[in-house]
Amino acid sequence: MKDHVVSKKLLSIVMAGMLGLGISYTALPMPEAHADIWGAILSGVKGAQDYAATDKAMNYYNNTEQGRQELLAGYKEKYGVCEDEAQNNQLASMMNNLVDAVGAVDNTIYKKPYLYFVNKETSFNAFCSMGHVMSVNTGLYSVISNPDEIAVVLLHEMGHGQKDHVVNATRKKMRVAIASGVLGSAVGNGTGGYILDMLVNHIDKVQITKKDEWEADNLALTYLLHSNYNPGASAAIWQRMMDSPHGGNNDMIREIFSPSDHPSNMQRRDNYSKRMTDLTGGDVTVDKGVVKIGGKEFVKPNGNLQISGKERAYFVLGNLVRAYQNQLNAEEATSDGSTVYLGSQAIMTSMEGDPDAATLAQRLNALKSSKPVKIPAREQKLQDSAKPEPAK
Ligand SMILES: [Zn+2]
Repeated sequence: MKDHVVSKKLLSIVMAGMLGLGISYTALPMPEAHADIWGAILSGVKGAQDYAATDKAMNYYNNTEQGRQELLAGYKEKYGVCEDEAQNNQLASMMNNLVDAVGAVDNTIYKKPYLYFVNKETSFNAFCSMGHVMSVNTGLYSVISNPDEIAVVLLHEMGHGQKDHVVNATRKKMRVAIASGVLGSAVGNGTGGYILDMLVNHIDKVQITKKDEWEADNLALTYLLHSNYNPGASAAIWQRMMDSPHGGNNDMIREIFSPSDHPSNMQRRDNYSKRMTDLTGGDVTVDKGVVKIGGKEFVKPNGNLQISGKERAYFVLGNLVRAYQNQLNAEEATSDGSTVYLGSQAIMTSMEGDPDAATLAQRLNALKSSKPVKIPAREQKLQDSAKPEPAK
């Protein structure tokens, strides 16, 4: 009985280690200490051939409250808990909003509430493990401070969580390892060498597939549309990555931001941009920093040191999506101070180098379509696919 408890505990730690890599928003380094733990877990489950034992263990960590708490504790121990009050408060209040945004399309979220914390890692990252256990690196906040963009990161992770991507990827990995006898022989020989090699060099194979990455991205926008955050942040955050001095050719950062199995930053930006265009019935597009309505230039926002003009363009697109979604495109565009509105929806606040709000309101009135928006089939399909399977 005692053995059983110990093996569970070890499994929790090893899972925490395995899942910290490759399944996250971006990759985390693999601590070497886990080599020993692999050996321990394998003897702990009494034979690597025992598929049922691994399934049972995964169910424990994925679905039981005790298992989830152990997993959370494992991550807290491994990555450290960041005590920054502002970041913790912001995360807590954002998670409240985001749970409802996800719940609007997938109410299974209320059955397994997310467990989350800010960790001490300084790289740009967030991850969601099995059991809806989530963590955000404190380093994320040095790259993005805008809550709309942080929401995109969190919702992407929650997309992985809602669709059990991590559990599925881990099960696949464990089964391959068991079937190939890799785990058994390593234990049999009593040597950690093989296991160490696997962990250091091949652990990245416990990975979310590209297909799952796209699914999480698409879910993030679908959820975002049910929140009060600007849906344009979905494309804007990837533009921000492309604009950052690290977003281009710096090898180290490129690897962190975009492991080879992830779609590229540009593909992710363009997928979001295209979906938003679809949500305006094809009326509003963004191309090379220019927001066009009905194919004609509405505005090319200016940039500054904090944000590029290209990134701002996606926020404008997001606000126009909101207006079209709420049928406000039939209403008049107006200006109030430096902000231009479409009906009651703020579209853009002019800053230095931009046309003034009155000019923009005039342009918007001339360009916008007043027709009700027809949601294209593809977009409808994406929204529907976010809904949980009906009860059988
Ligand atoms: Zn992901």
